[in-house]
Amino acid sequence: MSARAGIVVTGTEVLTGRIQDRNGPWLADRLFELGVDLAHVTICGDRPHDMEAQLRFLASEGVDLIVTSGGLGPTADDLTMEIVAGFAGRDLVLDEALEGRIAEILRPLMRRWPDLDPDAVLASNRKQAMTPRGARPLQPVGTAPGAVVAPADGQGPTVVVLPGPPRELREMWEEAIATEEFGRAASGRTRYAQRTLRLFGIPESEIAETLRVAERSVQGFGALEITTCLRRGELEVVVRSEPDADAAYAALEALIAERHARALFSTDGARVDDQVADLLEGRRVAVAESCTGGLMAARLTERAGSSAYVAGGVTAYSNETKTELLGVDPALIDTRGAVSPEIALAMADGALARFGADTAIAITGVAGPGGGTAEKPVGYVCWAAKRSDGAVLARDTTLPGDRAEVRDRATTVGMHLLRRLLRGEEFPL
Ligand code: ATP
Ligand code: MG
Repeated sequence: MSARAGIVVTGTEVLTGRIQDRNGPWLADRLFELGVDLAHVTICGDRPHDMEAQLRFLASEGVDLIVTSGGLGPTADDLTMEIVAGFAGRDLVLDEALEGRIAEILRPLMRRWPDLDPDAVLASNRKQAMTPRGARPLQPVGTAPGAVVAPADGQGPTVVVLPGPPRELREMWEEAIATEEFGRAASGRTRYAQRTLRLFGIPESEIAETLRVAERSVQGFGALEITTCLRRGELEVVVRSEPDADAAYAALEALIAERHARALFSTDGARVDDQVADLLEGRRVAVAESCTGGLMAARLTERAGSSAYVAGGVTAYSNETKTELLGVDPALIDTRGAVSPEIALAMADGALARFGADTAIAITGVAGPGGGTAEKPVGYVCWAAKRSDGAVLARDTTLPGDRAEVRDRATTVGMHLLRRLLRGEEFPL
């Protein structure tokens, strides 16, 4: 049996969605790596009652470990340490060594802002140095110390209290997992294996059918925990298992590879962006795009070192720009329309020539809302990927979703077209 854990993310700004939670997902990955089974991630605002309720809920679910994020600052709404102390049945006491350490951290700040009221600084310093009696303090990364708090009576979960700012939380995590208290709470953990298969160009229902077949034909299928998820137009199949289920996993992968040979593009966790970046090694790619407004170029340049293979891009919204910067024939725009397979191809040619590139990807489409016609509705997009040796893969289709989705998915399709072009595959998608 592996240890079970819960995560409590605190902060009204996270609860209301003004700030997107970056700590829950990061901690979930770390717990997974440690073989700790994560049962729940909860989010609460800066209200003592709500946080207490979530701690109690997780305890009632029998978790061994709770990790909290946020609420360790000097202001009155930062209440986490006090609440966790109460939850663990411990008093809050001043840790003088910590108080000294925080004072040291604050000294240069006080010098920089000489108008700060020293008494107020001292008071907040002292607040942050209050630690549950008998708990293991964690050294501050910013100014806030954290703690690993085991229950005073030995009954219930151990709580790891971490600060909210993601950089601070990540650094403090390393210290937290090295403590004896953490080790004890997380003992009994198993190492899980997790693999991700990625597919493109098939609906979720297809994979659902394959999984039904697998259930009947793969021995040991029950030992695999499978989740499927649609992300950026791709289908991810994540398979989690204990180490002794390797044979079942291999059989499942073989079945998916057999039934979805064209769609399956990654079995080792690699994303299409990584694959394309690897395939572009030693080459020069150029982008010509309209409806994606620069997103395709942005996506191709996400990886450090991409300047070695990305020559550049043109975002050509207006017809004049398509002609002036990419050499697209205005007569062709008139006869075929700016959103057409012919123009996508002309844009790809223009990008190859303009940048002296050996590979180009071009995208033109109707991202909407509004502006579509019966023949070319909102979501209608045309792509062309071309190599300077003349090889071309082109496609046009109507993508579902709102403007943001159409634009994002259009870049995903662009990535897959590039991948297939660079691998020398002949079928478009
Ligand atoms: P501080 O001393 O900075 O107040 P804290 O431990 O009290 O630290 P919070 O007040 O909860 O932390 O959060 C401080 C800031 O850290 C937030 O305003 C936000 O910018 C960032 N932050 C907090 N929690 C998260 C989270 N879950 N995901 C992303 N950012 C977060
Ligand atoms: Mg705070």
